[in-house]
Amino acid sequence: CGIVGAVSKKNIVPILIEGLKRLEYRGYDSCGVAVHQDGELRRARSTARVAELDVNIATDKVQGGTGIAHTRWATHGAPAVHNAHPHFSHGPKAREGSAGRIALVHNGIIENHDELRAELIAKGYAFTSQTDTEVIAHLVDHLYDGDLLDAVQRACLHLKGAYAIAVFCRDEPNRVIGAREGSPLVLGIGTGDRAGDHFLASDAMALAGVTDQIVYLEEGDVVDLQLGKVWITQRNAEGRYAAAQREVRTV
Ligand code: GLU
Repeated sequence: CGIVGAVSKKNIVPILIEGLKRLEYRGYDSCGVAVHQDGELRRARSTARVAELDVNIATDKVQGGTGIAHTRWATHGAPAVHNAHPHFSHGPKAREGSAGRIALVHNGIIENHDELRAELIAKGYAFTSQTDTEVIAHLVDHLYDGDLLDAVQRACLHLKGAYAIAVFCRDEPNRVIGAREGSPLVLGIGTGDRAGDHFLASDAMALAGVTDQIVYLEEGDVVDLQLGKVWITQRNAEGRYAAAQREVRTV
């Protein structure tokens, strides 16, 4: 339903929460936030209002400069905390016990989720939700080989349906990848005090008061947000992502 994400030099949680509050009018049944904190993925999720989520975040001291947040309107899987986004992938069972590696939020519907889930279960992935979204988190983990942009681009080629996603990885702090196909997603470029910071949102309104430098992503775009640089990659006519990347801006 609603997505906010960011890469910043400072704790980004207040901006993520404010963004979710600005998207609340669209309605939702649950909400959540995940950040990169002390080399690990940390998250808080709730089936109550964003204001309640904010209380949990304060209690659990969830903070970090890289993060993603979501308000969910359930399409697959009941409204419940375990189905709320962000979803984590801990890797296949062989690596069970290891901390989560991939964190992901998603708007839309993945039509081939059953087929992808069966393939990922066969590869040893354990599912903890009934959502279509969790397949994307595990698929990105499966395709991850040290470069999150490459993993997300390759994952997108397997997805059928509509999506806007925001993803980050335990092993790459200060990086968030976004992608869209059939659901809106915008890039926000930090200015002034926030020069070098980059933001993602499903609606520019979520970034009101944060930045007015908004780039509307196009269908098939995958965007790579880092501190001080951001790239948009576009799918070519063959449905592939070209190696050449289009730099939007370097601060
Ligand atoms: N299909 C996903 C789910 O049910 C995302 C729903 C949404 O867009 O909020 O979790």
